[in-house]
Amino acid sequence: MTASIDAPHRGRTTAELVRQDRERILHPLLPEGRDDRTVLVGGAGCRVRDADGREYLDASAVLGLMQVGHGRREIAEAAAAQMSALDCFHTWGTITNDKAIELAVRLTDLAPAGLDRVFFTSGGAEGNEIALRMARYYHHRRGASERTWILSRHSAYHGIGYGSGSLSGSPLYREGFGPVVPDVHFLTPPHPYQRSLYDGADPTDFCVRELEAAIERIGAHRIAAMIGEPVMGGYGAVVPPPDYWPRVAEVLRRHGILLIFDEVVTAFGRTGRWFGAEHFGVVPDVLVTAKGITSGYVPHGAVLVREEVAEVIGQGGGFPIGYTYTGHPTACAVALANLDIIERESLLDNATAVGGHLAAGLRTLLDLPAVGDVRQIGLMLAVQLVSDKQTREDLPGGTLRVADRLREDAGIVVRNNPHALIVAPPLVIDRATADELVDGMRSVLERLGTDGVVH
Ligand code: PMP
Repeated sequence: MTASIDAPHRGRTTAELVRQDRERILHPLLPEGRDDRTVLVGGAGCRVRDADGREYLDASAVLGLMQVGHGRREIAEAAAAQMSALDCFHTWGTITNDKAIELAVRLTDLAPAGLDRVFFTSGGAEGNEIALRMARYYHHRRGASERTWILSRHSAYHGIGYGSGSLSGSPLYREGFGPVVPDVHFLTPPHPYQRSLYDGADPTDFCVRELEAAIERIGAHRIAAMIGEPVMGGYGAVVPPPDYWPRVAEVLRRHGILLIFDEVVTAFGRTGRWFGAEHFGVVPDVLVTAKGITSGYVPHGAVLVREEVAEVIGQGGGFPIGYTYTGHPTACAVALANLDIIERESLLDNATAVGGHLAAGLRTLLDLPAVGDVRQIGLMLAVQLVSDKQTREDLPGGTLRVADRLREDAGIVVRNNPHALIVAPPLVIDRATADELVDGMRSVLERLGTDGVVH
């Protein structure tokens, strides 16, 4: 599979590309001291190809966004057709376009009942910035300007804007970056496997008690909203107990606090439903999407808003601020083509069926010494790695080395966080490819010691 290192790419060898990358690009999340690069040049279905012709199984769906698989000509054609008709225009004021309208109708038809308004963005962080602004603005317009506090959860990820980064649980997003957005309070996430978080209590009981105590302490009259991913993705496919969201939503409703669902990862089939909210019987006031809306073919996002909230903030269908690309016609056309494929190819059903099959395969890895837990909902999975199955403590040195070895030794690309390997392949994956993924992971994880070293 590995071709010559000198394969030409616009006349440049792989070595030249790597050198130019090192000299010119500031990489997000580049581990210290790393000079190597994987230069990707192609992709089809669940596979991507590097400049040397080596193929990888994309078990990360890029970053949990590639629903329909790489290289779909239909989407490229939809983009080309739209660019030839109306490439770009804004939707400020009274200006609109046919593709933004069509997509807004499509999204609100798919969304849980009541989420009847759409504000378009270009990505997840942008969506959460808007959701945060909408929540505070909603209360302001109702004469409760002191309702500024936002409740979030430790280990949550909501993006790296100053607002969204301030809502993200890890100190990484705040330390060294000066003053952040104030009035944010972090709660304990519902992660049953991490039982040490709950002092022996039932996780939902613990989280609800903690929420009520926080509301008591801060004062409901000062709290605008709570934000949460229905299923936490970056934290490692953390599926909450079934009663967590219904009970949390009931407490928030009782206190007039809005609920924002960050469905940047969970929407558009990742969990086997159109929206993660559907698993929990809870309809949020604001629902933020991005990623899978276009399968990442172009950046796009949509914030869905409950009609009553929209009426308060909107004055007849508006919002006082907007992004340059809000309602971008080409992005909307790509989203429509993407949703067509998800529907036509029954990718929600595939996510449920192949997700279950993949989870069964990955659970066979639980016999290995460093594999502590396997979690799954649809095609959102995580394999938690531990140094000790009793204490459930993390592997020393984290999981990055393991993810690297999966790529190097088995040609498998996964995401990782300090605790887990995050497995989220494109929704088009079939059972045979899922089996190949399990075999590839076993070939590396069976050499992984509880010291964190792949031998
Ligand atoms: N929210 C969640 C749950 C995410 O996973 C991400 C990105 N991984 C974001 C927000 C931020 O999205 P973006 O990178 O498009 O700004």
